[in-house]
Amino acid sequence: MAGKPGYTRALLKMSGEAFGGERGGGVDFSVIERLTSELKSVAALGVQLGLVVGGGNILRGTTASQQGMDRVSADYMGMLATVINALALQDALEQQGVVTRVVTAIEMRAVAEPFIRRRAIRHLEKGRVVVFGGGTGNPYFSTDTAAVLRALEIEAQVLLKATNVDGVYTADPKRDPTARFIPELSFQDALVNGYAVMDANAFGLCKENRLPIVVFNINQPGATAKVLAGERVGTIVQ
Ligand code: UDP
Repeated sequence: MAGKPGYTRALLKMSGEAFGGERGGGVDFSVIERLTSELKSVAALGVQLGLVVGGGNILRGTTASQQGMDRVSADYMGMLATVINALALQDALEQQGVVTRVVTAIEMRAVAEPFIRRRAIRHLEKGRVVVFGGGTGNPYFSTDTAAVLRALEIEAQVLLKATNVDGVYTADPKRDPTARFIPELSFQDALVNGYAVMDANAFGLCKENRLPIVVFNINQPGATAKVLAGERVGTIVQ
């Protein structure tokens, strides 16, 4: 990779769905291994990296509550699901020699450290990848919101939103052959045109605090490193 990295501290949001692989549900370790080898090359660039993982491959609060569960209990289960993914990610990263700390929004000291902002920053400064588990710690929120919140707290310069498509399109490229790829977008344009970059709460928080978002395809080999090196990959919303 030529030149200096474009970003020195970043937060990457991965949805739980990515962890489920082809099967969708559960944890597919071969997928996690592939994702972590991408992250290893990023860590090697010297970029300080925080990760927020979703839990959708295991449980979503809204879905469970539609099936009759109390919403708040379901959301707590969803938050615990993100910790399962965080531990899987930590294990895979450490097997590849990347020193990793899991910190959780809900205290579970036997499993991981509680989230303490200054401590998390210290880990990053020491070159450790920090995986933020447990979402925001509050029901009725999403891990997208947790990602923005943690990105702002650790003063990340960019939020990377990992997806299965190359970025933002004018329509769903899988369904509409006329869908056009948009390389760059303002927050206002995304809002006006209804492009679903993140959920509304998370997007509003980014917009308000002018935190740039790069939406990109994590399945493209080398894409994460390219984004962080400042190359034009995916869609940048700023
Ligand atoms: N969740 C929550 N508060 C948070 C983050 C997550 O209650 O701050 C719950 C919520 O039920 C959500 C589930 O955890 O459905 C899993 O997170 P999410 O749906 O954001 O995961 P993803 O879609 O990214 O896999």
